[in-house]
Amino acid sequence: MSAHGNHKPRKRFGQNFLVDGSIIERIIDAINPAPDDAMVEIGPGQGALTRHLVASGVDLHVIEIDRDLAAALPTTVPGLKPENIHVGDALKMDPTSVVPTRAGQKLRVVGNLPYNISTPLLAHLLDFTGGIQDMHFMLQKEVVDRITTAPGSKAYGRLTLLCQYYCAAIPLFPVPPEAFSPAPRVDSAFFRLTPHPAPPVEVQDHALFQQVVAQAFSKRRKTLRNSLAPMMNAEMIAEAGIDASLRAEALSMEDYAALTAVVAHYQQ
Ligand code: SAM
Repeated sequence: MSAHGNHKPRKRFGQNFLVDGSIIERIIDAINPAPDDAMVEIGPGQGALTRHLVASGVDLHVIEIDRDLAAALPTTVPGLKPENIHVGDALKMDPTSVVPTRAGQKLRVVGNLPYNISTPLLAHLLDFTGGIQDMHFMLQKEVVDRITTAPGSKAYGRLTLLCQYYCAAIPLFPVPPEAFSPAPRVDSAFFRLTPHPAPPVEVQDHALFQQVVAQAFSKRRKTLRNSLAPMMNAEMIAEAGIDASLRAEALSMEDYAALTAVVAHYQQ
């Protein structure tokens, strides 16, 4: 029998199962589950993390898209309550409504996520940060670098600004391909997102903020004068207090908020 029992890993569901015990231990330590936590795991798979989370005493709920794996979970993870197994697409579910919480309690979200849907899944989860205490995820290292970096770096971009608008983003540790079966072709990393109590910048129109960011990074090697031209001219950029000869990656979140305010003003 293979490391997966009779299950043939499904590429379309991003199935790379964790098999390295020391990495699994580091992940559980970083999550630090407590019996009082309300927790949901996205993509429990064959239970590599799930069995340790359940053993910690936390009342764990899981969301799994693969019906076969979900059906096997009561056997692969004996302590997991069958009613806590939610079969479905995490992209289409509100995690905060899947798990019952006490008044004032926020949800903890964890998972070794399917890499093929990493950006849409993160964008989806960020919609629910009002009800979330923290999120601990594994993703490809290149994506974790983009999420957790700072202005001025190559990795800085739309995903950085999207995630860091909602959350403090901390890289925790890298994970090599050999920690999984089958081994992914990329390096991975484990990281933490902690939702801000309030956004770090004041933005009236968040959709417009994202449009300005997307426009600026659409030509990341060009100056802002050039990349932002479809939305604003050099005078408007100067009005926001920004040098139009800079590139998108030089600007902080505050700078993008200032640009958004000027665009909003001229749209009135
Ligand atoms: N947690 C397991 C582990 O660490 O070994 C499995 C991780 S594997 C990278 C990703 C898991 O997410 C798989 O079990 C896969 O079936 C599941 N999955 C993929 N797409 C999903 C989706 N849209 N909603 C919920 N689960 C999904």
